[in-house]
Amino acid sequence: MVDVHCHLNFHSFEDDYDEVAKHAFESGVRVIVNTGTSIPSSRRAVELAQKYDSPAGEMYAIVGVHPHHADKADVEFEGELQSNWFDNLKKLAREPKVIGIGEIGLDYHTYKSNGIVDKDMQFGAFKKQIGLSIELGLPLQIHNRQAGEDIIQVLKKYRTQLQDPPGMFHCFAGSFEVLKDALSLGFYIGFDGNITYKGLAPGETVGLWELAKLTPADRILVETDSPYLTPIPLRGQRNEPKNVIIISEYLASLKAIELGTFKSIINKNVKKVFPKISF
Ligand SMILES: [Zn+2]
Ligand SMILES: [Zn+2]
Repeated sequence: MVDVHCHLNFHSFEDDYDEVAKHAFESGVRVIVNTGTSIPSSRRAVELAQKYDSPAGEMYAIVGVHPHHADKADVEFEGELQSNWFDNLKKLAREPKVIGIGEIGLDYHTYKSNGIVDKDMQFGAFKKQIGLSIELGLPLQIHNRQAGEDIIQVLKKYRTQLQDPPGMFHCFAGSFEVLKDALSLGFYIGFDGNITYKGLAPGETVGLWELAKLTPADRILVETDSPYLTPIPLRGQRNEPKNVIIISEYLASLKAIELGTFKSIINKNVKKVFPKISF
């Protein structure tokens, strides 16, 4: 199994990422992919990927600036303000263990801490990073929060230049229409532990279980988004990559596919979307 989107690169795993990774590897997770949301967290994802490099347990990195950080992409590093986030990202993206560009996209959710980031800045960062993925031949890992229609419009413009397949929507949510468009553009669809939650998430109109039922198994990817979105029955604890197994079990039964068969379909999907992953 592969957790194609998590954040052992975040502070919440600073003290015990090694233990957490080992638990995942012992539970049958072969590969962990850490995704960046800023330049520092992307850099950390690359560092971790370089540390783990054995058939028993591998890590890879996806690097990018999240739409929620689009207005603060330039950050201080080693005491100096770096005003060239895009150059720094480009450097990171060329590292051998970087398998994609993400998490990038648009986010229209109003966060308590700082509302919605200026939409022009979000579009600017999104398009620039799509350009980078095209230049380097890397697939996309898309973050969408309540912005599905606009994301689809942007992706349609780049359709002919993207990779084949173009990448994945991570932690999918949205309308049937957005799902249909994402699939027809060739994207794979990532589901997380929140699929085990009852009811609708704030701002959403369609249940994740309905979306998962409509997504063909050969287009599904499974991810944890650790430390967030812990699946039931562990909800309330910090999420960990080993829980990708619980999410897979839930999805397999939802799709009425035997677990072993489901896992082998998902592994095939991982290799299709991220050809640089070897396991
Ligand atoms: Zn996200
Ligand atoms: Zn994430």
